[in-house]
Amino acid sequence: MAPPMINYREDGSTYELVEASDDGSRYELVQIRESDAELIGRVNDWLDQGQRDIDAALAAGAQFIINLTKVHTLNCPAVRDKLDLRTMHPFGPQATLDDLREHLQAFGWPRLPEFATEQEINAARRYTRCRRCCPGVLDKAPKAPLTTRAGNIGRSHIGRTADGRALEWVRLERDGVELGFDDGTVHAFDLDARIQFDPKSPGSHQPDFGSIH
Ligand SMILES: [Zn+2]
Repeated sequence: MAPPMINYREDGSTYELVEASDDGSRYELVQIRESDAELIGRVNDWLDQGQRDIDAALAAGAQFIINLTKVHTLNCPAVRDKLDLRTMHPFGPQATLDDLREHLQAFGWPRLPEFATEQEINAARRYTRCRRCCPGVLDKAPKAPLTTRAGNIGRSHIGRTADGRALEWVRLERDGVELGFDDGTVHAFDLDARIQFDPKSPGSHQPDFGSIH
């Protein structure tokens, strides 16, 4: 196969010939490197739009920054550069065009920060509070205890414990299930009731749900 024909333009952009008719009268070029001016234009457009979105969010009353799974105050040193996109990596005053070109090719555009109000964060309870800026919001909610639907309990659950008693037998009825435990007790449940077994092996690193109700 013939090596691809590369077409260099004076502005620094390059094109690769991908298809040509036999007589060469029709051909298709694909740009494989944009010119510096094109790159600068594209970056500026992205920065302008992103900064408008950030400023609008702040003007609308955003109180906290959410970065991945963590919540920060607006002036936390760990995320403050995200409020001014032109200072943020990979832009910043030190960035060269070649650095930028490489970075954008490898990683794409950086993630824009997300914002939330105290009310939104406290309602979601999905974010860990940053230890550095200690935002005045509720921390991520503890995991809900794992439960099993009574109707799904079967032979594989025999031996599991609930409140320290081991399950010895299961009897599935038409509209419920009976569970027999090793202390001689028998409990009947609706099929949709949720049963909370103890964590599988008490010595393992499984979280202890016993104290959460
Ligand atoms: Zn922080």
